Amino acid sequence: MHKDLFVIEGIVANTGERKSIEINTETGLISKISEPNNKADVTLENELIFPGFIDLHVHAREDTSHTQDYKEDFITANEAAINGGVVAFAEMPNNPIPPIDDESYEAKNKLTKKSKVEILLYAGIGPHTSPLNKKVPYKVFMGPSVGELFFNTQKELEEVIKNYEGESVSFHCEDPEILEKNKNERTHEKRRPPTAEISAVDFALGLIEKYHLSGKICHCSTLEGVNKIIDAKARGVSVVVEVTPHHLYFDETILREERKMFQVNPPIRQSKENRLGLIKLLKEGKIDFLATDHAPHTIEEKERGMSGLTHLDTYGPFVSWLMKEHDFTPQEIVRVCSENPGNFINNFSEKKPARTTDFVQSGGYGKIEEGYVGSLTILDMNKPVKITKEILKTKCGWSPFEGITFDGSVVMTIIKGKILKNEIK
Ligand SMILES: [Zn+2]
Repeated sequence: MHKDLFVIEGIVANTGERKSIEINTETGLISKISEPNNKADVTLENELIFPGFIDLHVHAREDTSHTQDYKEDFITANEAAINGGVVAFAEMPNNPIPPIDDESYEAKNKLTKKSKVEILLYAGIGPHTSPLNKKVPYKVFMGPSVGELFFNTQKELEEVIKNYEGESVSFHCEDPEILEKNKNERTHEKRRPPTAEISAVDFALGLIEKYHLSGKICHCSTLEGVNKIIDAKARGVSVVVEVTPHHLYFDETILREERKMFQVNPPIRQSKENRLGLIKLLKEGKIDFLATDHAPHTIEEKERGMSGLTHLDTYGPFVSWLMKEHDFTPQEIVRVCSENPGNFINNFSEKKPARTTDFVQSGGYGKIEEGYVGSLTILDMNKPVKITKEILKTKCGWSPFEGITFDGSVVMTIIKGKILKNEIK
């Protein structure tokens, strides 16, 4: 075997066919797909080969201040991602020194280079920011959450969004005025009611349409909010939507015990009916992305009431739950975990050529095809995994899924032709 080539043979998830996939380890790209010939470096049996999973919503915490590296950094987030079968992620800007202009963005971007998992940074939009020179995705926090990058009123937000006409903007939708009105309520979920999200989704959709943004609504938790987005898409608004594992797996029934560990924005507060409704829309492809909102805090911080859950380590096992418990086909998983998020990050690839016909030489994420990045996630649907602290790589060392056994697990993660996780005997 040529030393620059890595060959893996097995069942390709989206077609169900056995293929031999050859990856050039110099370029990191898939160089050939052919019929199996028993000459592969790795020959799989019944495992499924997915185009590597991509998580569009991660807080890795490290920034140029390094004051939150104790929660997570780009190395440990990268390890947790590999553990969960995530080969690339997009990372959020609510840092102590937020990336909001060319200089702060490049400085933070340098820190990501130690990660083997590809990291695309969002730039933040705050009360006094303006667009960068480079084409990047933006994130806006409509109301106060974690960090200082937020607006107090929707009017204040619109004044700034005007400057971002035509850009890619992701919205954290919680209406600051509704949060303010409910701030003295007794529980976290009452302080942040569903109406805060629904009202903010309406406002975000209005901005997206008015300023011709490529919009993305983050972690939408209410069926009413998602349906507004689906209606907007139908009338031609350029908008996509994420849903998190926690809004699909948990509902109001867990709020009795251990509520602090499950505290997150927007909160877990929905009915079972709402939860199952979100799962159905994800399966149908009407929700575009399974994006985790991985937001690591220490156990002590969680006990003090900090919002955010961890997810990177459990991305692949959670996918197996969607397949086993909710009958997602491998194709339906590929759409929301690989292809759609791949299309999102490919928009910002520095290697992207001017002519799309050159794309096959340049590498893109989301498909198992010649010319695409050779980063793959291998799931064994017959190898259950129990989530315990011991198997996690995230620095904060806990998961909302602890104690839960998922039916399938990530047995191999390959990044650009290199095996970075291997549990195949
Ligand atoms: Zn987030």
